[in-house]
This record gives sequence, C-alpha cells and structure tokens, in this order.
Amino acid sequence: MGTKLTSRAIEATVAAMFFVACLDPPRKLPDDTAGAGGLGTGGGSASGGKGATSSGGSSGSATGAKGGSGAKGGTGAKGGSSTGARGGRGGSSSSGATGGTSDGATGGTTSGDAGEGGAAGALGGEGGMGAAAGEGSAGENTGPNACDTAVVGGHLPWRAPGDGGIEKPAGTPGNLQVLNWAGFKGAVTFTFDDNTGSQVSNYALLNGVGVRMTFYLVCSADGSNPIWTTAAADGHELGNHTVHHCMANGQTGCWGGTYLGVDAEIDQCTEHLMSAFGVPGVYTMASPMGDANWDVPASQRFLANRGVADTALGVRPNDGTNPFELPCHIADEGEKAVQAVGGFNAVTDSVRTNGSWRIILNHSLGNNDGYHPVDPAEVVAAMTYARDVGDVWVDSLVNVAAYWRGQKAVSSVQPTVQGDDIVYSWTLPAHFPPGRYLRVKVDGGTVSQCGTELEWDEHGYYELALDAGSVTISP
Ligand SMILES: [Zn+2]
Repeated sequence: MGTKLTSRAIEATVAAMFFVACLDPPRKLPDDTAGAGGLGTGGGSASGGKGATSSGGSSGSATGAKGGSGAKGGTGAKGGSSTGARGGRGGSSSSGATGGTSDGATGGTTSGDAGEGGAAGALGGEGGMGAAAGEGSAGENTGPNACDTAVVGGHLPWRAPGDGGIEKPAGTPGNLQVLNWAGFKGAVTFTFDDNTGSQVSNYALLNGVGVRMTFYLVCSADGSNPIWTTAAADGHELGNHTVHHCMANGQTGCWGGTYLGVDAEIDQCTEHLMSAFGVPGVYTMASPMGDANWDVPASQRFLANRGVADTALGVRPNDGTNPFELPCHIADEGEKAVQAVGGFNAVTDSVRTNGSWRIILNHSLGNNDGYHPVDPAEVVAAMTYARDVGDVWVDSLVNVAAYWRGQKAVSSVQPTVQGDDIVYSWTLPAHFPPGRYLRVKVDGGTVSQCGTELEWDEHGYYELALDAGSVTISP
C-alpha cells in the first residue's frame, strides 16, 4: 500500500461517514445504518486491494455502503476470486447500501492470506464489490504481511456515542490509550442458546429490535433450520454449542445421538455452521450446561467461550477474566425487563455504573420448549432498553470479545522509540477474527499505520486496524 489512502478509498470513507452521520438513531442493526450487513467487524473505507492491475477495475461502486472489506477480499490469492465474492455478499445483504467505491477492484494481488480477507468482508458485511475485486489478475504472491491484509483507515460500523466536536489532540506526541468499549460506558450482549423452536418462531420479533445478538446452536437439534441463514445474513453471530450438548466427558446430558468426543463435538458443529448457514468463520462457543471442562478445548479453537457463572460486576477492560469462561446472567424463569429486584434492565444499568460488559443468556421464549422460559416481549423490552439508553454498546459476543481482547493486547504493549517516532507493536490472541478496530486517543502527534495517516474522528478517537500489528506516533 502506498503512503496515503487512494482517492477512491477516501471517497468511499467519506461517503460512508456521510451516510452514517445522516442517519437517525438505529432501528436497524448498527451495521445496516452503515449500509453494511453482517456482523460488522469493522472496516469501512475501501482500502483493500493492493498492487497489481485488475481486469475487474471497472467495479468500484459498492452496494454495501462502507464498501471496504470486499476490497480486502480482493487481495486474495489468485485475484481473490472466491474470497472477494464472499466479501461482496456481505455487503449486498445490507439495506443501507450507498456509497463506497471499492478498491478491491484494483486488487487481486498479493498476499496469500486471501481467505482471511474474504472472511473479513463477509463477517463485516461491508463487502462492497468484492466480487468484482475477485476479477483482478493474480499478480505476485508476496506472502503474508500485516500491512498487506490490514484495512488501514477503516472504521467500526457502529456509531460512537456523543455529539462529536472533539478537537484533535495537539499536545506531546504519545500516550496511546484505548477507549473502553469503543467509546461507550459499557457493553451488553444478548445470547440465546439451544436453537429452541420458540427462538425460531420469535426470530423476526427479536431481529426487529435492531441489535446484534448471538445464537449458540446445538448442531444436531434442528440445526439446519434456514432461519439461521437469515440470522447470519442479518448480522447476528452463530456460535458453537457442540453437536450433541453433552457434558465434556460425554457421560451425561447428551441430546440423543452418539457422543463424538470433545474434538469432534466442537469441530463438526463449526463445520456445520459454516456449510449450512454460510458463515465464514465461527469465533466463539458456549459450554453446554456451563461445563468448565469445555474451556480448554474451546481455547484451542476460539476467541472466547461463554460459561454460565455470573459476576455482578461483569467483565472490565484489561481485567483478568478468563475469556474461555465468560460470565453471564441466565434469565430466570419468567424474568422481566423491569422488576423490583433483578430483571434484565438492571443488568444493563450495572454496566453503565461499572464500566463493564455483561452477557445475558436466554433459552425458551415463552413456549416452555427449553430452560427457563421467558416472555419474548420482555426480552424485546430489555434489548430495546439497552439499545436506547445511548451509552451502552449492544452487540454480539464475538464483536465485544474481540474489542475487549484486542484492547488488552494493545494496552499491554510497551512502546519503543525509533528516531522521532513512538511505535507500539502487538500480537493478537489466537483465533482472532480479521478486520477488527480499536478506538484510541493520544496526547498529540500524527498517528499512522502501514504508512497511512489515520484520521481523527471528532467523537474523540482514531481507529486502529488491529490486523496491522503496530501503530506509529510521529511529531
Ligand atoms: Zn445449552
């Protein structure tokens, strides 16, 4: 990549920013407000496709507003044909769709790590014309390099809170600080386990709230219902809850069928989620029945795993919570949004007070077809409350977990001085999804990644591309 965003990338970014800025508070998924479907892993500016010439260069106009990661798909090996197409699909699932030209069209070269690029497009749903990017000529395979695959200058697809108007810091260069929870006071994730029939029948109701959710599917239990393809396309996360929902020793709790062993119970479910529902990757799991014996195998495959024990304080930035035993609030039978004691909204209130992240777990939605049935209207009320308080980030487990773990990775770095520059370099945790961003601030200086200067967002931050692996602060 050159030292600057290409003009088309800038146009795409500006178009995307304009589009976001013009929207009213979301009734749709935050992704959709940015014109991007999918999970919204970030990325926004179209700065992908590097190198080489392209026969697909006429593409450019993106249907997925932010049109970015499709470009990334375009960097794929052999011109990124398949991965670019996946990126594009993410974009086309969005209804916002404006904007964005995609530099993927010029791409089609470089790094062998094509699949990841494409996955980012689909996950983020920003795709743009990733498919067109795929038409690019193969070009040189220069091998994996953080700056080949990172989409520097991209954005998280959800809006930061606040009115903006914050001046770019002009003090002494340095002092990189990551904003907690992407600039929100706290975060809440609504999870739904066991793919119950009542979740299927109430899916449209839940989806109508317009916040991303996570569904942990037992892959042997109605795990082929097409509603989950819809859910994935709508931007929700499909997570792994194993094939048969057994205790990890296979002795108890299995939902029929034959226990496959720890590895196959997980891996066959992941394969099923990807092949049956079109998700490009599975990044989180929930331990069946909260059995902590799933934690280690989960850690070998995923970014995060949810347990069932709760902590009132929740997960806090840079704390020592085990990412493979994340706490959660399990809905009581008949729990309501508002109660004299407890209730879902009290969980949301607690993250605002404590600056933390809490996860809510539901099973049956009113039909008593699973554990602890609750009235779906109460879950809708709870999600609506969390959405509307304004300073709480409501998002899928993978999205919040990636931010939390990414923050911890970057915050633990000791910077080095290189000439006049201050450089922070980090290593992301294993099984980290591509295309992720952190919101950061500094005391002053010019902030750049891969030779590209980052733009200051007047909501009070720069957005770091985690894939880039480092950031430089210059006088
Ligand atoms: Zn379960």
